[in-house]
Amino acid sequence: MILPILLLSVLSLSFTREQCSSSLDADVLILGGGMAGTAAANKLQELGRSFLLFEAQERLGGRMQTTEIFPGISSSVGPLYIQGVDQRNPELHPIFKLMQVCGELQGRYIEDYQVFQGSEDVTAQYENRSEAYYSVAEQTAALEADRHKRNLADISYKEALRQSGWIPESPLDNLTEWLSFDFYTGEAPEVSSLASFNSDSTYTDFVSTESAAAGEESTDYLITDSRGYVHLVNCLATNFSEKQIHLNSRVTKILNSEDCVCIEVVQSSGTNKYCGRYAILTFSIGVIKSESFRSVLSPFLSQDKQESLKFFHMVNYLKIYLKFNDTFWDNDAIVVGRVDSEKGNFPVFTNVFPSHFKATIFVLTGDFANKAVAMDIASLNDSITEAFRAIYGNNVTAPTHIFRENYLNNPLFLGSFVGHNVGYSQNAFDTLKSPQLSLHFAGGAFHKYFGYVHGAYLSGINTAEEVNLAIQSSAQNSFKILHAYFFLFIVALTMI
Ligand SMILES: Cc1cc2nc3c(=O)[nH]c(=O)nc-3n(C[C@H](O)[C@H](O)[C@H](O)COP(=O)(O)OP(=O)(O)OC[C@H]3O[C@@H](n4cnc5c(N)ncnc54)[C@H](O)[C@@H]3O)c2cc1C
Repeated sequence: MILPILLLSVLSLSFTREQCSSSLDADVLILGGGMAGTAAANKLQELGRSFLLFEAQERLGGRMQTTEIFPGISSSVGPLYIQGVDQRNPELHPIFKLMQVCGELQGRYIEDYQVFQGSEDVTAQYENRSEAYYSVAEQTAALEADRHKRNLADISYKEALRQSGWIPESPLDNLTEWLSFDFYTGEAPEVSSLASFNSDSTYTDFVSTESAAAGEESTDYLITDSRGYVHLVNCLATNFSEKQIHLNSRVTKILNSEDCVCIEVVQSSGTNKYCGRYAILTFSIGVIKSESFRSVLSPFLSQDKQESLKFFHMVNYLKIYLKFNDTFWDNDAIVVGRVDSEKGNFPVFTNVFPSHFKATIFVLTGDFANKAVAMDIASLNDSITEAFRAIYGNNVTAPTHIFRENYLNNPLFLGSFVGHNVGYSQNAFDTLKSPQLSLHFAGGAFHKYFGYVHGAYLSGINTAEEVNLAIQSSAQNSFKILHAYFFLFIVALTMI
């Protein structure tokens, strides 16, 4: 009796492994060609691993892209800033390090700003309130550390601000809070997790000790380079061959097993199947959370991962690009804040274009962003003109062109970048990030610098290294398994 069982187990084990290994197209399949997927591919190439990258769009870059926003004018859309740069030592920032290889992107640091209440310039009053806000905000880190030590549940960042002594009392205070929090996180502190906010060290990690000792803080670098931020993605892809990069290739099935990952991809030639020993999934959290993704990934995310996923969401950070007949504002002020009776109602426009473009960008977040995405262009135009007239008077004419981003409804993103619900924890992050069978995860949501391009970049590199180690150890395991088969086979033979 024991002999047929032994022979059967040898055969069935080798069959499953055979099914994967006979049809492997590459060591690693990379799903998605944004910053994370491209950085992962670049790292795997460096490590000597074979890969195939699949991207639904006709280009690499994902949320990073340069596009024609007005007739004859192209601009970066999506990310525009490198956050957390030490002006004296920019090379400490991972994106500036990458620029040492790819060439520096032109840009400028955010220094000049103005704030208006009606037509009155209230920049000085804003600076006072901003100082008050930041001195309170600093205390939220201590509050979070204390709550963590005492095992207390996460609270909203708004509640943390309140407990630390920040209670907005005027429309100017509301704008101060918006410019200091919502403008960066893409959402209101009411819906944002305290634990998550304090886990992001982007604004301190790339500051040299000398700068920190001199009390200098990091700042944001606005990219104005005509090649756009996406130039860095294209640079990372310089040495890839056409065979490695599959553009216009929408992944519709991911079949994940212990021995390999096989995918179905809709391409111009039809639906094709590819298998790799491992795969790296880089789709946005919006895509991973979508109902339709349930029919793509099989087996679906483990119960633990699904529970962790509840603490992740995509924020709507909406930029509306506007072109006018005249420049009626001070184009040297990169950020122009606008006090309104309602917090978040057209609160800021940002000047990234040279003045002869006669163009600027309004930024909206949260509910106002959701409303503006749904508005028809004529109503949007009216609201924007009204906002400008409140500052610059009734002679302001309406914009001649409007370009509105729409990451929220684009099925390839379903939002702008990741945010975390109250209740978020490091454990939720670790659980979601951990590999499932042969599928590994990378992307803007899967790094401690979540929501940023530098997070996506480092996450791609880290996950490629993690997969490289998995390949090494699976090669060692295969050797051990081969030994075991051989042993079983000899035992079976001796029993005949
Ligand atoms: C409006 C906006 C402003 C931002 N501002 C900043 C900023 O100032 N600074 C900053 O650092 N970051 C900013 N970000 C965030 C930054 O853009 C992202 O964190 C980063 O680009 C994410 O890269 P990624 O590779 O993880 O994801 P993605 O760029 O989303 O890449 C994933 C890729 O997967 C592809 N894909 C999805 N589904 C499929 C499928 N079924 N088959 C094949 N391919 C698929 C997508 O097309 C996409 O190319 C901003 C983002 C937005 C939208």
